[in-house]
Amino acid sequence: MKYRKFQADKIFTGFELLDAGHVLIMDEDGKVMEILAEMDAGEEIERFRGILSPGFINAHCHLELSHLKNCIPPHTGLIPFLMDVVTKRNHDQELILDCIEKAEREMELEGIVAVGDICNTSITFQTKCKSKIRWNNFIEVLGMKDEKAEANLLHYEGILHAFTGAATNMKSSLVPHAPYSISNKTFEGINNRTRHSIVSMHNQENPAEDELYAKGTGDFIQFFNKLGLPGSPFPVTGKSSLQSCLPHFNKQQRLILVHNTFTTEEDIVFALDHTRKHLSGIHFCICANANLYIENRMPPIDRLIKNKAEIVLGTDSYSSNWQLSIASEIRTIRKELPEIPLQLLLQWATINGARVLERDDALGSFETGKKPGIVLLDNALEARKII
Ligand SMILES: [Zn+2]
Repeated sequence: MKYRKFQADKIFTGFELLDAGHVLIMDEDGKVMEILAEMDAGEEIERFRGILSPGFINAHCHLELSHLKNCIPPHTGLIPFLMDVVTKRNHDQELILDCIEKAEREMELEGIVAVGDICNTSITFQTKCKSKIRWNNFIEVLGMKDEKAEANLLHYEGILHAFTGAATNMKSSLVPHAPYSISNKTFEGINNRTRHSIVSMHNQENPAEDELYAKGTGDFIQFFNKLGLPGSPFPVTGKSSLQSCLPHFNKQQRLILVHNTFTTEEDIVFALDHTRKHLSGIHFCICANANLYIENRMPPIDRLIKNKAEIVLGTDSYSSNWQLSIASEIRTIRKELPEIPLQLLLQWATINGARVLERDDALGSFETGKKPGIVLLDNALEARKII
């Protein structure tokens, strides 16, 4: 068996940063053997400038929206943004497929090894079958009407079926889109179909989501009117959208809450408490570039850290980002919040992401027996796939 030996200014193990006196040993298939002191590592060491890290995990993307690159202007706020996505997402099929292929390739070269990917259709299936990346396909249900809930869920189960069984690099599950697009009966149907599954949900991207549930008023009423609904189809609860909707899940699912731009500390405490009683885990996905693109605001990362919430990173899609790069998400958070240690950010990008997608048996850290890939971060924190 031939081995490869890697050394750099630092090695990030998935948990901690080691100094230059360490060498990562892998077999020729990329399986981690061990990390040795330089003096025990022998000859033929490949040396790099920068940090060697396990491959990155992108916990939230919409690969099928890759053709919307540069289509939607930044800083519009969520509701005009949603209208743009609804009206601009239809395009020539060939162009859409071409953009999907390019975005997949871009993520691979940026050192991303697994993606939690929202799917409204099965258009990304062929690209994913050929991809070296692992895909958790989140088949995203939209359903505002109780009376149509079951028929609607059957439609999405058809898409789920199209993704299931064919390729070993994919896992798929049904997920809700967001509190402002899922009726009570639709939530109930998803809960019943997702025991022990991974469930992602867009959460509190805009303050209007809370107002919709707390008072039944606000900007979403206009959005519903444009979609042909006379008013809010959702119950008025007097609570935030998260506190109103999270209780729909109680079958030991693993929840990924995406964005959390307007999540309060009270919401975080509520979510952690609900998780202890009813879920197998809860993870807060930060999409910093998308939050700056849409709302020009950062989520409450300091309060998530204070409450020991588990954080992961996502790029969201080309409809709300300038690139699909976890390294770029890290650079943005460092610029906005320089007090967060790089080691912690790298944990979010690797081992935490692998845990949330339930791929930590193989990915997320340089532990013996795993095949996590290697990404090199240079001194400017630009990423390049090494293996
Ligand atoms: Zn999204």
